[in-house]
Formats: sequence, structure tokens, C-alpha cells
Amino acid sequence: MSSNKLTTSWGAPVGDNQNSMTAGDRGPTLIQDVHLLEKLAHFNRERVPERVVHAKGAGAHGYFEVTNDVSKYTKADFLSEVGKRTPLFIRFSTVAGELGSSDTVRDPRGFAVKFYTEEGNYDIVGNNTPVFFIRDAIKFPDFIHTQKRDPKTHLKNPTAVWDFWSLSPESLHQVTILMSDRGIPATLRHMHGFGSHTFKWTNAEGEGVWIKYHFKTEQGVKNLDVNTAAKLAGENPDYHTEDLFNAIENGDFPAWKLYVQIMPLEDANTYRFDPFDVTKVWSQKDYPLIEVGRMVLDRNPENYFAEVEQATFSPGTLVPGIDVSPDKMLQGRLFAYHDAHRYRVGANHQALPINRSRNEVKNYQRDGQMRFDNNGGGSVYYEPNSFGGPKESPEDKQAAYPVSGIADSVSYDHNDHYTQAGDLYRLLSEEERARLVANIVGAMKPVEKEEIKLRQIGHFYKADPEYGRRVAEGLGLPLQEENK
Ligand code: NDP
Repeated sequence: MSSNKLTTSWGAPVGDNQNSMTAGDRGPTLIQDVHLLEKLAHFNRERVPERVVHAKGAGAHGYFEVTNDVSKYTKADFLSEVGKRTPLFIRFSTVAGELGSSDTVRDPRGFAVKFYTEEGNYDIVGNNTPVFFIRDAIKFPDFIHTQKRDPKTHLKNPTAVWDFWSLSPESLHQVTILMSDRGIPATLRHMHGFGSHTFKWTNAEGEGVWIKYHFKTEQGVKNLDVNTAAKLAGENPDYHTEDLFNAIENGDFPAWKLYVQIMPLEDANTYRFDPFDVTKVWSQKDYPLIEVGRMVLDRNPENYFAEVEQATFSPGTLVPGIDVSPDKMLQGRLFAYHDAHRYRVGANHQALPINRSRNEVKNYQRDGQMRFDNNGGGSVYYEPNSFGGPKESPEDKQAAYPVSGIADSVSYDHNDHYTQAGDLYRLLSEEERARLVANIVGAMKPVEKEEIKLRQIGHFYKADPEYGRRVAEGLGLPLQEENK
């Protein structure tokens, strides 16, 4: 029988939810008030650890619709025919700030999409930038330490930021994007999204191509000027979260066109940049954008914690027809993401409603904390077995590819960190260049060691002499011969 009675977490009716039980009117509170104990104890446990990176986020539900036939490149079921629609969930985020930090800071924005396909979930876990600061996952914890708070002062530390960047010149391209107008988007709706890494698509015949994803905003790219952004950071730290929620609530559904760049496998051996180096783009003149489909966000989450906070994405959440590349940053992320979720949300995070595949998950994983489904019931729990349990399907194996060489810790052999950062500088208008330089000068001024500033000016100079000269002028420092 349904009733509207308040219950304890074990379902019993609650007699009093306003007054705790005491020994007499003025006596101490009784430990036998188990409803009170449970209520306080649960409250203490309301937070899960916030994400170490991408803590502050906003999410939305939507769908993806295929608008161009790409089935000759990939056998991915959700891309198999024009008009096919797949439900999805997206989470946008800033990177460095804490859960309560301001939306309108200069930072890359996370752009993580979970497609609930009929062959399992597929995640594209990208950013609003096509490249990244580093290209080997082994540098990630150090890089993020410099973006977070100093262990002594508990303040952000520009000296650490620029020390790391100046000693990691592969960051220059992403630093240039970050310091440009696009470093502070006007809203989450007015920015592009990128898969950033190179992935591999494989078709039904087993033929592969390398690909890169581009989500192009249909709202147009718009950015915030630094003064407005700073004002908003104080007045409404949740500005982007609010904008997204209200737009969807008002039926103004944001949309993005998804494109891919496609590179024949053999080109990877001869292209002028290493196509697996995530600090580089593939020129759109070499590999033009090919339309795939359209993403529309049309439904707000009903419950922030259940859907946005508990959403778990990983670039390793793949479906048949889509494989990874040897990009070393991607390879590290294949481990780090689900590992972070196992720590943050739990070993069974993929069974939560927001993360659960829409098709039935059939495997031999059992038990673990918070196993809240039927745990496989009485079905067979090992493989191989003689009881008709689920079986592997060799046709769905990841595509094989040849490797050779010596196992060693080696750098990418391609060390031109400057050409593409310079290309970006050169395509900016004079006003955009002036703002880029002003943003960099403002950010570098508090750096405590001159040596760091000079080293970084040298990188800007190598990207484009004018770029280096203008930053040096802004900082009132000389261009040193050895840094040019
Ligand atoms: P194209 O002229 O074909 O493309 C230039 C690209 O730069 C466009 O995608 C444009 O985006 C984008 N862009 C413009 N201003 C900025 C900015 N402030 N921050 C980030 N992106 C911006 O040139 P190429 O493909 O040969 O690339 C030249 C340079 O453009 C690269 O070195 C790279 O820095 C940058 N770029 C390249 C991308 C790629 O995938 N090839 C993607 C993004 C940037 P929009 O579509 O909105 O005009």
C-alpha cells in the first residue's frame, strides 16, 4: 500500500523528524534514537571525493544523430546508418579548480560525452582544445601539481606553473590556445569540443584509418573578455552551469556538429608531425573535416549528484569499430580514468544508472563494495563453463597492428614544439594577438624567478619572433640570445 509516510533508510515509518529523543525534557540525547544516529551518520558521508582534476562540472542529456554515412570507415553500430539516433550524456568541466570554484576562469574545459549505444557505452573524453600540455602520461601528476595549490601556502603558484611549462616546451601550443581569447569561453554552449587524441576506426572488413574528432558548436564560438570573466567569477561563480541549465530548461537546446579528420594508416609513417603526439593537430588543409552527425542537448539532469557527480567517463570505454592509437597520453589515460572512478565512486561504478550500459552487461565480474544489482544471481560465475554462460565474440576483437622496436623509455622523436604554436599566433588578428600577449604578461608577472620568464620568452620567440618580442616587452625583459 502506498503512503506518504517518512521512513528511515531501512523503510520503517519515522515517528518524529523534528525532535531528538532525550532522557527527560532537559536530559541528554539518547543513543537509542537510531533514526537520529542514521540521519547524522549518512549526512557525514554525503560527499564522495571530488575529482582530482575536472572537479567542477555541469552535465546534460541529449542525443546524437548520424547525418553522413561513415560506415565504410567504421563498423561502430551507432554510426551505422544516416538518421540513427543514440542517447547520450555530456559533462563539461573546468580542470584545475575545486568543486566550488568559479566557472569563468582561464582553463581548458572538459568535454566528456557518453554515447549509450546498442553495443555498449562509448565515451569520447576530450577537451575544448584540440591539443594538450604534455604528451606522455608519466608527466601528468607533476603537471597537475603545478596547476593546484602550493603545499605550503595553499595558494595557486604561478612560479610553479611557468617553471613546469618553460621546462616542458611541448606545452607551448596548448599554452597559446589557453592564453588566447578561447581560454575563457562565453558559455559551455559557445565552444568547440575535441577528442584530442588520435583514435582508430575499423570497418567490417577489418580495414582501419586513424581519426580525430571535432565537435563544432552550432551556437558559434564566443568568449568572455577578461574583465567580465573576473567580475562574473565573483558575482556568479556558477555562471556557466546556470547558463547551460537555463538554456535547456527554456527549450533552447544547444547543438554541435561532429566531424572527423581521417588519415590513412600508412600516412602516419610519413606525416610531417607525429600524428599520435597530442600536442599537435593535423592540419585541416591536409585532412579536411568530414561530417559525421549532430549532437543535441535537450534534457537537464533530474539529480545533480546521481547523474553529474557520479558520471564516470574513460577514453577506454570503447565499442567495436573504435580502437585506440599509440598516443602515450591516451595509453596512460586508459588506466587512469577507470582507476580514478574505482577509488572515487567504487568498484561497481559502471552499474550505476547514469553509467550503466543500455544493453545488458553479461560477464563474470561479481561482488565488490556496493554491488547493488542482483550480482549475477545464480548464473554461472566463471569461464570457460559448461552451463551456457556468455562467450567472447572474436569478430569484436580490437584491431591488430604491427609493432617493432626495443622496449625502452623513449621520447617522441619529433621535437618541433614551435611551428604549430606559431601557426596559431600567425592566424590571429592584431587585436587577438594583443590580447594573447596581455594575458600572458599578466599571468607571468608574478613569476618569482627571472630565469623562468626568460626561458619561456625564448619559446614564444621560437614560435614566432614577434610573439617572443612582444611578451618580452610586456614583461620589461630582454630577449636573450641563448634563448632565441
Ligand atoms: P586552418 O586554418 O585550417 O584552421 C585553423 C583552426 O584554428 C580553425 O579550426 C579555427 O577554429 C582555429 N582557431 C582560431 N582561433 C583559435 C584560437 N584562439 N584557439 C584555438 N583555435 C583557434 O589551419 P590548420 O588546420 O592548418 O591549423 C593551423 C593552426 O590552427 C594550428 O597550428 C592550430 O594551432 C590551430 N587549430 C588547428 C586545428 C586543427 O584541427 N587543424 C583545430 C584548432 C586549432 P574555427 O573552426 O572556430 O574557426
